[in-house]
Amino acid sequence: MEHCVFCKIVRGELPSRKVWETENLLAFEDIRPQAPVHVLLIPKKHIVSTQDVGEEDRALMGELHVTIAQVATKLNIAETGYRVVANTGFHGQQTVGHLHYHILGGRQMGWPPG
Ligand code: AMP
Ligand code: ZN
Repeated sequence: MEHCVFCKIVRGELPSRKVWETENLLAFEDIRPQAPVHVLLIPKKHIVSTQDVGEEDRALMGELHVTIAQVATKLNIAETGYRVVANTGFHGQQTVGHLHYHILGGRQMGWPPG
């Protein structure tokens, strides 16, 4: 059993504010929101990062990508737009080793990122 923080959220061992849940996916509010809307969309399967997505995950990742738009619509940021971010590894400043997609919206974003 994984001791990872997001796996614990998936198993209900840690609390979270869920905004979307299916058999394979979960979206919940980020504990330190960086925008008025800041949700993390994750596969329930423990995959460490974008670099660890394998051929066997094609269907799961397709499902995840379709779900981004559905979550954005539910959160009322579809029309105004939003940003999807997957920080990966050291340079990407990934801090949790369970694949997650930040969905950020509700304000104007800046570019380039820091
Ligand atoms: P990253 O830095 O890209 O790996 O993103 C990890 C994100 O997880 C950060 O934005 C954290 O605020 C968030 N986070 C960490 N622990 C929790 C938690 N227990 N519940 C919700 N969000 C969390
Ligand atoms: Zn995990």
